[in-house]
Amino acid sequence: MTMRSELATEIRRLHAKLEKLGWKEDDCALIAPVTLEINELKREQNAVILAHSYQTPDIMYGVGDFIGDSYGLSVKATDHPAQKIVFCSVYFMGETAKLLNPDKEVLVPRQAGCSLADAINGQQVRELRQQNPQAGIVCYVNTYAEVKAECDACCTSANAVEVVESMPQQEIIFIPDRLMGENLAKISSKKISTWDGTCIVHEGFDINSIRDIRNRFPGAKILAHPECTPGLVAEVDYAGGTEGMLNYVKNSPASTFMLVTECGLTDRFKAEFKDKEIVGTCILCPYMKEIQLDDVLQALKDPRPEQVIEIPADVAQRAKRSLDQMFELEKAGKKLLQEQGRSKLPWTA
Ligand code: SF4
Repeated sequence: MTMRSELATEIRRLHAKLEKLGWKEDDCALIAPVTLEINELKREQNAVILAHSYQTPDIMYGVGDFIGDSYGLSVKATDHPAQKIVFCSVYFMGETAKLLNPDKEVLVPRQAGCSLADAINGQQVRELRQQNPQAGIVCYVNTYAEVKAECDACCTSANAVEVVESMPQQEIIFIPDRLMGENLAKISSKKISTWDGTCIVHEGFDINSIRDIRNRFPGAKILAHPECTPGLVAEVDYAGGTEGMLNYVKNSPASTFMLVTECGLTDRFKAEFKDKEIVGTCILCPYMKEIQLDDVLQALKDPRPEQVIEIPADVAQRAKRSLDQMFELEKAGKKLLQEQGRSKLPWTA
């Protein structure tokens, strides 16, 4: 194929994926040379590109091999033969991929932060433990490896209830997401205290925008992330993480939905559910949006030291133990909730 026909094919491929998001062929033509080069380098280097759902559509659909949430993508990479992982996401997500894929090279295009992960460090968790020796400490997966290393177990938004319920302690310190901790406290049998971290995206939504959508689109289903305020979560039709939202929309007979979450996920739903209408507003995550196609290209061509994820061995070993504990507790928690007749415990209960 000549360069010109390769470019024309790439523009058509991009346009087929991005048309629903309002991209014209001319827009696709601007990024096609870069996506072609990245995809070529990916093949040459036996690399896989993971794109978090909050990335921009050019990254998700232009170069991403898999799109999803941080933990699901990191697990997916363990089964993939590629020896190099480029994780288009914030830094702590790259760390999670490295913890689960220790023998692979893991790159992040930018050293991007996160308001939740940046809210607590390892030393602060050690102090919490000293002050509260009777409590178990559970961290949300949106934390750095040095924080995971100090906790008893990790959890995701999909298994937080199971993990917390099956912890041996009656008192649980949930870090770093205060709002998710408050949502958890409403449905858990444990005494839960929280740390004052928040996701600047999800804490930014207010109940009035939900009520406004209900008035303007009667019959619309409203879905929110449990990183939102408990008041808001109580008013929606479904609360959960990315996979839960995808399944809800896929299986719902409704035709109109509002997603109370980051704009990238809203774009993803618009692109992937061509027969459903997505309404309402979304909020951009400035950390996720730091990553540009050019950063991905540069990381593949000539990675700088700060783009290569390295975790000290003792931290990695203890952080991995927290992730392994999550699996065990999730299994035990599912069984426990089933026995108690609480197996379908939703965040909105
Ligand atoms: S949306 Fe942005 S700020 Fe919120 S948890 Fe994700 S990376 Fe962090």
